[in-house]
Amino acid sequence: MTDDEFDYDLIVVGGGPGGSTVATLVAMQGHRVLLLERETFPRYQIGESLLPSTIHGVCRLTGVTDDLARAGFPVKRGGTFRWGSNPEPWTFAFAISPRFASEGATAYQVERMKFDQILLDNARRKGVTVRERCAVVDVLEEGERVCGVRFDDEDGVRRELRSRYVVDASGHRSRIHHRIGGTRHYSDFFRNLALFGYFEGGKRLPEPNSGNILAVAFPSGWFWYIPLSDTLTSVGAVLRPEALDRVREGDRETVLRQLVSECPLIAEYLAEATRVTDGPYGEVRVRKDYSYLHDTFTRPGMLLVGDAACFIDPVFSSGVHLATFSALLAARSINSCLAAELDEPSVLQEFETRYRREYALFHDFLVAFYDTHQDEDSYFWAAKRLNDDGVASAVQSFVRLVGGGGSGEGALLDPDAYLRDRKEAFQELTDVVQSPVAVPGEDRDLLGAALLKDVLKEGVRMQTQAALGGNVDDQRPIRPGGLVPSADGMRWRRPEPPATAG
Ligand code: FAD
Repeated sequence: MTDDEFDYDLIVVGGGPGGSTVATLVAMQGHRVLLLERETFPRYQIGESLLPSTIHGVCRLTGVTDDLARAGFPVKRGGTFRWGSNPEPWTFAFAISPRFASEGATAYQVERMKFDQILLDNARRKGVTVRERCAVVDVLEEGERVCGVRFDDEDGVRRELRSRYVVDASGHRSRIHHRIGGTRHYSDFFRNLALFGYFEGGKRLPEPNSGNILAVAFPSGWFWYIPLSDTLTSVGAVLRPEALDRVREGDRETVLRQLVSECPLIAEYLAEATRVTDGPYGEVRVRKDYSYLHDTFTRPGMLLVGDAACFIDPVFSSGVHLATFSALLAARSINSCLAAELDEPSVLQEFETRYRREYALFHDFLVAFYDTHQDEDSYFWAAKRLNDDGVASAVQSFVRLVGGGGSGEGALLDPDAYLRDRKEAFQELTDVVQSPVAVPGEDRDLLGAALLKDVLKEGVRMQTQAALGGNVDDQRPIRPGGLVPSADGMRWRRPEPPATAG
């Protein structure tokens, strides 16, 4: 393949958080990236409560944290839940997990129109060609391989462009996800429906928790209550499937009002509030059939990222986290192939394995969390069983998981230190590998010297791990024959072989 055969190295379909993140991370490695977005931004999207792993992890890698800080989004320190057998609300703070760097133990509640615009503008600045009002209708194929897209351009003219890779990040309404092969499987467990709207003048939790998400279980399901500014609040009811008829047959506004009156804590918080009735927040919206998992995320030349691949449930705000984390994993895979460092099957498998592992962690925890007869300690222990690092307490394991740090990836938990420590550690490793080892009586680097180097390398690796603490071990593969992130987190690499000293 020569460059001339392709218009781009990567074409990304969709400019939500998943799409703009993968596009940015690949463009930052100097590759030619085109992002096609069907709408004109800013456009409405649900998914407003974010996690520290996104804000201080992936967004730091794409270089957009300062822009986000300037936007003035409410700071989310954790969550407040009226959930389970405890009749009183309980609160957790991300700061309770020692795994989030102290300055990284927060997230934001965002108006997605603003958040997604900031990420897309950043992609442009990092070299991505962004074209709005371009709707992708299909992929181009050459045998088994995907090699571009067919789309309707800004003037409605059907066009084709060729690329080495295509990422489908076009969300739950993707038109091309099925071209990956396989099937989208809808969950038998999460068959909920959401009814949501916006209010002005709602009450706030007492400080320092005024920016927390408030989640309140009630007989028909649960409510989210998300502060988007001092006065604007996103309020949604997540309802069991039995409620479908109630929503289908009734006027949405009336049904939402009735549901609020059935949930005393939310009714109290909205007592002085008025519903927004005009502009992008004026509509009472419904979403259903949103919990699904595609049975494959890759094929040669193509990857699914974010909601195009899977989504579980709004509780604990995993959607944007899964979108941005999968975008990071996809970018590493594409960057490794474009740099001709690793073979495509290995990097695609690494992407899929890690993405599925993070999905499964949230999925299995949320199944346990939906048993509302337990108390919060049981939920914390459920998180520890799923995500035990051998160090953290049950509540710390819970906070790490629901903060998006379950993968233990240093890049998500504390990226500044991650990049700094990796650079130092890798310099030490390089020094060890490159330095000649003196063998008494010999002027050549014999087997004994090679073994000595291995032992030294292992020693440096262990020292690095000890310095980073906990289970941070980005340098150990998560499956036999697996890959690990490169020092800068932008690609994959083969792990150091284990020391063979004896
Ligand atoms: P999207 O944000 O959907 O972006 C996809 C983009 O692709 C869109 O801009 C779209 O216009 C574009 N597109 C679509 N088709 C085409 C095409 N053919 N050609 C070109 N472009 C196209 N997540 C959270 O993190 N926190 C929450 O609090 C939360 N609450 C939720 C509540 C509900 C009721 C639901 C259903 C979901 C919630 N989510 C939440 C999930 C969140 O909305 C998604 O996980 C997240 O938006 C996924 O990001 P994405 O980039 O994959 O897709």
